[in-house]
Amino acid sequence: MPELPEVETVCRQLDPELTGRTIESLEVLDARWCRPTPPRRLERAVAGATIAGLHRRGKYLLLGLDGERTLVMHLRMTGNLVLVEGESKLDPSEGQRLYEGERSTSERHLRARFALDDGRELWFTDPRRFGEAFLIDDAKLDERFAGLGVEPFSGDFTAAALAQMAAGRTAPLKSFLLDQRHVAGVGNIYADEALFRARLHPLSPAGSMKPEHAEALRDAVVAALKAGIDRGGASIDDYRDGRGGMGTMQDEFLVHTREGEECPECGGPISRIVVSGRSTYYCPTCQVRLRRRPRRKRS
Ligand SMILES: [Zn+2]
Repeated sequence: MPELPEVETVCRQLDPELTGRTIESLEVLDARWCRPTPPRRLERAVAGATIAGLHRRGKYLLLGLDGERTLVMHLRMTGNLVLVEGESKLDPSEGQRLYEGERSTSERHLRARFALDDGRELWFTDPRRFGEAFLIDDAKLDERFAGLGVEPFSGDFTAAALAQMAAGRTAPLKSFLLDQRHVAGVGNIYADEALFRARLHPLSPAGSMKPEHAEALRDAVVAALKAGIDRGGASIDDYRDGRGGMGTMQDEFLVHTREGEECPECGGPISRIVVSGRSTYYCPTCQVRLRRRPRRKRS
């Protein structure tokens, strides 16, 4: 499932390509993609729009359009947003483009297709069909994202802010990190990687962190996400970047998906448990399980 580093990679690749381009037409091939808005209505609203830029909030992609509107997209489990050459210009010999076989696979899972004024097309492909899109006035964006947590690369994401969010919570740290209302953009991969970097056991109650733990976790979240961005994201399932290429973060995981392999720190075997229904990987030796802090007596 694409997380912050994967979505950020797509944004960084496609923003310079898309900014200033005009969408000649949008073709929605799957009504579920934009429900409850009828596909024809969205197609009419977007046709002829000039693209102001492509940005990210949490795991959301924000395609800014003229008229102070934004097409918000979420990749969910298996969605991809890929810029492809128009049929006549396709040259599979160029490495960064979709290979021919991959293109036909993508075509089968095509949910929406934007035709741009330079002859290229922007494809939203999604085998599992959980990805979604909606058009919103820019003035309503803040309200729409009011429940979304802090951006990990913003100045608001401090150790003190993290400690405050976690205070009094008995949920395991892994579940706490997956909850988008706290830290936006962290998912199953980078939660595991961050907890390993912070040396914190995924089942530690979130509210059990002392200030030094919150500081370590804050730094670890940022470092884990940055590592993912530096490697163009992780392509463990269906994820492809904005050019149809694969990220390499999956080759660099410290613990995620590495059950039974050697811990990079102590050499012991990495364990796998299930937390919040998600496979969770950690080192039982290096990662400390914090005890719940006793409640303060009221005076
Ligand atoms: Zn270890």
